[in-house]
Amino acid sequence: MAIWRRDRNSAREEKERSETPASTTEDEWRKTLTAEQFYVCRMKGTEPPFSGKYNANKADGTYSCVACGSELFSSDTKFDSGTGWPSFWAPVEKEQVAMEADDSYGMRRVEVLCRRCGSHLGHVFNDGPRPTGLRFCINSAALVFKAKSGE
Ligand SMILES: [Zn+2]
Repeated sequence: MAIWRRDRNSAREEKERSETPASTTEDEWRKTLTAEQFYVCRMKGTEPPFSGKYNANKADGTYSCVACGSELFSSDTKFDSGTGWPSFWAPVEKEQVAMEADDSYGMRRVEVLCRRCGSHLGHVFNDGPRPTGLRFCINSAALVFKAKSGE
């Protein structure tokens, strides 16, 4: 996983950073993200259950990557999983997320990442509702919610 690592000198250019998040260095992430966001997105951390601000959010709108702004999930596919984390049965577009096997902590899980910037979002499980049967278990700290306009 080195997709966001590039030449450090060019990555320092603020202009380029905003245009191509994939070039952002870990040092820059540390400056632009809060400690909690950095822990979740860049260190693959997990926020405590029921602690995140979007777990119980039922408003209509979209959820984007907190690190790069890429649109990831919609309230249309959000459901109450009872797990304590925002849960979705599908991403907005499956191309928006990347999935990788994660065997850490002695568990076989599938990690969900933002395809655009490589940030860790959460995990996906096979016990979700129809029509996909998937449960994208995502950290609130990795998301930014934008309410549907016109309301
Ligand atoms: Zn991202």
